[in-house]
Amino acid sequence: MSEKRDYYEVLGVERNVSPDELKRAYRKKALECHPDRNPGDAQAEAKFKAAAEAYDVLADPEKRKRYDQFGHAGLGQGSFSGTRFTNIEDIFEAFGDVFGGGLFGEFFGGQRRRGGKRPGRDLRIVLELTLEEVDTGVEKQISIKRTEHCGTCKGNGAKPGTAPVVCSTCGGHGQVQRSQGFFTMASTCPRCRGAGKAIESPCADCRGTGGTQRKADLEIQVPAGVEDGMTIRVGNEGDVGEPGAPRGNLHCVIRELEHRVFQRSGADLMTEVPCSFAQLALGDTVEIPTLRGRAEMTIPAGTQSGKVFRLRGQGLPQLEGRARGDQLVRVFVETPKKLTERQQELLREFDQIDQELSGKKSFFEKLAEYFK
Ligand SMILES: [Zn+2]
Ligand SMILES: [Zn+2]
Repeated sequence: MSEKRDYYEVLGVERNVSPDELKRAYRKKALECHPDRNPGDAQAEAKFKAAAEAYDVLADPEKRKRYDQFGHAGLGQGSFSGTRFTNIEDIFEAFGDVFGGGLFGEFFGGQRRRGGKRPGRDLRIVLELTLEEVDTGVEKQISIKRTEHCGTCKGNGAKPGTAPVVCSTCGGHGQVQRSQGFFTMASTCPRCRGAGKAIESPCADCRGTGGTQRKADLEIQVPAGVEDGMTIRVGNEGDVGEPGAPRGNLHCVIRELEHRVFQRSGADLMTEVPCSFAQLALGDTVEIPTLRGRAEMTIPAGTQSGKVFRLRGQGLPQLEGRARGDQLVRVFVETPKKLTERQQELLREFDQIDQELSGKKSFFEKLAEYFK
């Protein structure tokens, strides 16, 4: 195996390339060596994969930063070293999603056709999950509307007893040729819109479309540790295709609902816990909420407001890997808004002793000491 090429070089961009320029450069590269344009060309395919790998890293700000600092070594062994994409379909899946099909779609007719028949459209839904569901993983019951074959015409759009005929305008090719001077240009047949077939007596129930909307109840398996914005692809649960062609796929985009107590950062959970000045000054053991219940946490004497404690393993599971994240607990002093006479008296007395002990230092002296 030869040495890995620099990712910026692979995409032919400068190191300070902006995300937009990067996307454009990748798009250009991908189209150049797209396997549909270079059938049977192993070198083009290798280039296509290399470009996808480079883009996968550079389009992710985290990964790009690591790559800039440490090169290929910064991306870790095994986790990503060209292994993410084992075949061309993986690449379509990864980036077809990111760009909503637009990246390749414009040039290659949206859906890749299989056997000349149009597969069903992909569908996209949003799956809302609570942090608790992310924690355990969950089976979600969902209800979607999707296109099924019309029961009356079995999906071909023709009135029962009749059948679609070969389109007379294009002779069944789906494309028409037009001559302009020296050039011959092919364009989609205006009559059959590329289908190659025409329906002379349309089915009354679907008006010749061959499809009808129906509700479907599905169960989606959501693994533990998913993150907001991720997509779960469920194969063959999209719209039905032309008779004989496969269904589209269903893409479930994860949306994480806000939690009352926790904020999330990757696999870590963050909480803020208000404490009294006395608790932080004297030390205390407090009970704090965790995603799965409660935990006891010891605050040592002399803890500053804003200090963050780490509770190991109390975070979320990681999607890939066995370790759990941590829970980060930030303690802060909650200043009382109302004080009784007695409380005020005690605080004044406390403050006086405090000042005597610290020898009446100025604010700036104290500040300097604090930051020492
Ligand atoms: Zn019909
Ligand atoms: Zn036609």
